[in-house]
Amino acid sequence: MRKFPNIIITGTPGVGKTTTATQLIELAETESASFSEKIPLKHLSINKIAKQHNFYESYDSELQTHVIDEEKLLDHIEDVIADGAGDGGWVIDWHVCDVFPERWVDLVVVLRCEDTQVFYERLTTSKNADGESRGYEGKKLEENVDAEIFGTVAEEAREAWPEQGQVVELKSVQAEDVEENCERIWEWCKQWVKNNAEKQSGEEEGDGGGD
Ligand code: ADP
Repeated sequence: MRKFPNIIITGTPGVGKTTTATQLIELAETESASFSEKIPLKHLSINKIAKQHNFYESYDSELQTHVIDEEKLLDHIEDVIADGAGDGGWVIDWHVCDVFPERWVDLVVVLRCEDTQVFYERLTTSKNADGESRGYEGKKLEENVDAEIFGTVAEEAREAWPEQGQVVELKSVQAEDVEENCERIWEWCKQWVKNNAEKQSGEEEGDGGGD
């Protein structure tokens, strides 16, 4: 059983997943210093892993995107997550969430940018984590804007994690939202660790009190 929660931060490209995951991990590092036990959160950027290991199956020229070999990717992620003691604490950052087995994940955060103008500008002009301009255009731009308007990722998340409270949708329009969201997720992490420790000690006591 893991000691720390695994979290997916998902949402349409450009909603702020990487920004949020990075800030959340920084917050966990700072805040852990004053918390009784460190909660070591670690970033798992699926885009980065796919690129690093070339888990690409093909290239979709119409959508100007690589098609990921999901089987290879999941085999790799499973090894990463189970590595060491399999303690958890992974912050998985990807626009797809419903390929991961339900049991790998404790919380699914779907970021939403409901201001279409802001979102459009992010996709056309902002830079990604590698400092490359996104420059989305044509069908790729249209499909992603539509996906965000219709809440496609949130719907996929709720279908994949139907249990009440496992999926939360958080607004990510302004910089203050990132800060607020990280605080919220961090509070949730601390609570999860506390509940989990209590549950485990309860189980141990239960084991001991046999015949
Ligand atoms: P994703 O990982 O979801 O593709 P990024 O984290 O790379 O998105 O963010 C895309 C761009 O939008 C970046 O330039 C980032 O600074 C900006 N951004 C993301 N979220 C917000 C937000 N809540 N407020 C202001 N800018 C944001």
